Amino acid sequence: MTAITATDTKIKELVKPGRLLINGEWVDASSSATLETINPATGEVITTFAEAGADDVDKAVASARTAFEGKWSAIPAARRGMYLAKLADLIIENGERLALLETSDNGKPYFESSKIDIPFAANVFRYFSGWADKLSGQTIPSRSDAFMFTRREPLGVVAQIIPWNLPLVMCAWKLAPALAAGNTVVLKPAEQTPLTALALGELIAEAGFPPGVVNILTGRGEVTGAALVKHKGIDKISFTGSVPVGKEIMKSAADNLTKLTLELGGKSPNIIFADANMKAALRGAINGIFYGKGELCCAGSRLLVQRECYDTVVTALQEQVAKLQVGDPFDKKTRIGALISKEQMNRVLEYVEIGKKEGAKLVAGGERVTFDNEFANGCFVAPTIFADVDNSMRIAQEEIFGPALAVIPFDSEEEALSIANDSSFGLAAAIWTSDIKRAHRLAAGLKAGTVWVNTVNMFDASLPFGGFKNSGFGRDLGEDALDGYLQTKSVWVDLTAD
Ligand code: ADP
Repeated sequence: MTAITATDTKIKELVKPGRLLINGEWVDASSSATLETINPATGEVITTFAEAGADDVDKAVASARTAFEGKWSAIPAARRGMYLAKLADLIIENGERLALLETSDNGKPYFESSKIDIPFAANVFRYFSGWADKLSGQTIPSRSDAFMFTRREPLGVVAQIIPWNLPLVMCAWKLAPALAAGNTVVLKPAEQTPLTALALGELIAEAGFPPGVVNILTGRGEVTGAALVKHKGIDKISFTGSVPVGKEIMKSAADNLTKLTLELGGKSPNIIFADANMKAALRGAINGIFYGKGELCCAGSRLLVQRECYDTVVTALQEQVAKLQVGDPFDKKTRIGALISKEQMNRVLEYVEIGKKEGAKLVAGGERVTFDNEFANGCFVAPTIFADVDNSMRIAQEEIFGPALAVIPFDSEEEALSIANDSSFGLAAAIWTSDIKRAHRLAAGLKAGTVWVNTVNMFDASLPFGGFKNSGFGRDLGEDALDGYLQTKSVWVDLTAD
């Protein structure tokens, strides 16, 4: 793949103007409105795509309702699973194309798209394909005068709002359990990264899903997203994104009492004890924050380091980040690609200034990385490390969503736990220690939806993921995700003799 660069014609040949997928047809927005999607590594427009308005939302919701009341509910559950399994195969078959689109649209290194995101998206569809015909209720044998049982039924039409950091992976996390459970979907990708969701729409048709089961509406959050979450025909909203938008969506959902799952931000602690395997812990510290350019909700953005090894860790981190190549996402050696947009890059750089003013010690990065070639307009930020951070500083409390790490010293296990939990967020945490008792104590004590022990940022389709506190509620992945797309019906059959 070394021949490919961000401006390669191969990518240009793959993209076409994006349209809306409604009832199995690709259509323009009824207003004919369009937006542009930009390659953040070059600043070039990749293509245009439709922006759905309220009329298009009406049509997509109606199409999802018809599919739900009709064909989709009538087919055997195993068949739903077969469609999902077929989609998983098609994602793998189209892996190169999907990875090229993902990296062009998002700016992430090609190895992340091709080796991690695309195979993981396929795995998620494959995992949930197996669940479709295993969603049993219970028989409740507590009375002799009645036969009581429960049925687990789908909710109906689900609106799914996708962020830009893991565009295809998030589509898989949301779509797969909703469809396995028998719902139909109106999905809205982020306006910054519509391309892989649109490509997935084509594969959904190829996999044989009946029209209307999955509808895809592109557009801005305040236009398409807002119209979708306010729609009275939606039975459930599943959202992954920022806390302010999550709150807004919750308010809209309240008006219609729409069920809601929110996966919001994080400020995840990555805790290194002096007894840890230092090589692994350092690798974990780097991957925890710089994988995905730090634009991950679970990024290990607070590094808590025991004072005995604090200086050694900070020095080693400085040495290691100096080796991380920033730039062309298609260059095999690149570890940090382009941030999603100029706004996001400026936001990260503003936090650098905030950190300096707060008195944290900038020991690496802190500036934009510029080039004299086709990447001159790219949104690149050097891997940034602040040492001697106090947990009360804004750079330790607010989600930066970029390649910026706050290193915080601690003395005891109790202090580490208290600092780690002193956050409005509770998405994930990682512990590095060779003391198994301590690992278990902390796994229990950390207020986070996921705790990694001697590893970080690891995901499996079967392991639930979601937040405590302001990081949200409800779960993606695993059996728990299905609960968010099902409701229980109790049936009482009278058995008393006439
Ligand atoms: P970020 O700030 O990182 O871009 P957002 O939370 O704004 O993250 O975006 C996540 C997703 O939510 C995107 O698909 C975006 O279009 C959508 N979105 C943004 N605002 C709204 C809104 N008011 N209603 C519904 N969806 C929205």
